[in-house]
This record gives sequence, C-alpha cells and structure tokens, in this order.
Amino acid sequence: MPELPEVETTRRGIEPHIRGKRISRIIIRQPQLRWPVSEDLVPNFTGQIIQSVSRRAKYLLLETDAGTAILHLGMSGSLRIVSANLPTGKHDHVDIIFTDQTTLRFTDPRRFGAFLWTSETPEDHPLLTHLGPEPLSNDFDGEQLYELSRKRTAAVKSFIMDSQIVVGVGNIYASESLFLAGIKPTRQAGRISLSRYQKLSEVIQQVLRQAIQQGGTTLRDFVNETGKPGYFKQSLAVYGRNEEPCIRCQTPIRQIKIGQRASYYCPSCQT
Ligand code: ZN
Repeated sequence: MPELPEVETTRRGIEPHIRGKRISRIIIRQPQLRWPVSEDLVPNFTGQIIQSVSRRAKYLLLETDAGTAILHLGMSGSLRIVSANLPTGKHDHVDIIFTDQTTLRFTDPRRFGAFLWTSETPEDHPLLTHLGPEPLSNDFDGEQLYELSRKRTAAVKSFIMDSQIVVGVGNIYASESLFLAGIKPTRQAGRISLSRYQKLSEVIQQVLRQAIQQGGTTLRDFVNETGKPGYFKQSLAVYGRNEEPCIRCQTPIRQIKIGQRASYYCPSCQT
C-alpha cells in the first residue's frame, strides 16, 4: 500500500510535468472507486490550469483557480505521466489530458483510491479537516505527542498511527520508529515519558525522510510508459522479520497483533 513517502514521491514525480498546464479533457473510464468520482469534477476541472501539486497526509491536491482535485491512491493506486495516445489497460480509470497532450493517468487495480473535487478550501473538506499535523512539519514534536497522550490507555503504536494525532505514520513506519526509539509497541501511550516521546518524534521524522530520499531514485519511473512507478523496497529493521535475529542484539524479533495490525518488535531492545 502506498504510504506517505510513496505519496510524496508521487507528488514530486508528477509535479514538474503538470504544474502550469491547462487541462483540455478528462476521461473517466471507471467512476466507481472507493467513493464515486465527483460528478462535478469534469465540468469544473476541465479548462483549468494546475496551479500547484501539494500533499496533505496521503491525499494529493491538484489546485486550480476553480477548486481542487483531491486524489488518494488507496491500496494499489498509482499515477503516471504518459502521452494521450498510449493504449489503456483495464485498470486505467482516469486520464487528465493537458493541452500539450501530456496525460496524467490514474491506475488502480483494487479501486480503493479516490478522485474527488472541491470548490472550497481543501483543508475544510470532510476528509481533511480532522487530520493531525504533518510529521515532517514544525507543527509536530515530542512535546505535542506527550501532551496528547496523557491519560490515554491505547497502545503507543495505535496512538502514533492515529491520523488525528499525526498523519502518515503507517504500519511499517510505526513498527520501525518504535524499534529505533526503543519503545515496546504495546506500552500504554499515557505512560511514556516526555524524553522518550522526543526521541520517538525524531526517529519518525528520520524514517520518513529516509524513505522519501530512497523514493527519489524512482522519480523517472513516473514517465516510464512501459512500467509503472515502483513502490520502493526499503531496508527494514523489524517489520516483516518475525523470528529473525534483531540487528542490534540478535534476539529473535517477535510478531504480535495490535489493533488487527501485524506488529514487530525486539523483546529485549524495546521496553
Ligand atoms: Zn534487539
């Protein structure tokens, strides 16, 4: 599933090819995504110029003077820059065609993605309005995690994956960050000290930045007409390494479920 780093990489991959360009035509082959493609997308978005390509949590925002297209890649979605006459496959659901024939093609085999339209400020859209701070912004730090966590009995892993607390810390990044911070993922969020939250916020930023940096090597894939943008494989310390030796102490990594999600940790490094 595309996580925040892949979405940010997608943003960086498509932006230089579409910003400042005018949309001449929109083709919707399959409107039934996670939510139906907004009916007011085609009449409002067509003819507009893309003023900016930004990201909020895992949503991509294509802003124009008339409003904003809000995209989500869901479980399996991807965006590519192709030429308008490139034959389509059965999962190519939406094409945004620009006046120079550059085409932004949205592909999504599992159709959990979204392609919505809003004429309002995107931050006020129901999907975006309750989101917590961006982890890589100055609005996020350990003090804030500490304050928000007081009296909370939820496992710290569920706490940092809660998008009202902070956005974009998916399952993999939560496990990896807690390992690097030495915090056991089942520990109650409300019983973790300020200094440990300071460490945790730093490593969350570190793992996300590293992933985005790695994604940078895939940027040219966005204009590769034969393939599709590869979601990058990263070197992971604990995630997916059940029973393999801890990279620090050789203790076998343990896999447990927290809130229905597979969670991995080292029983000796994480307390
Ligand atoms: Zn260990």
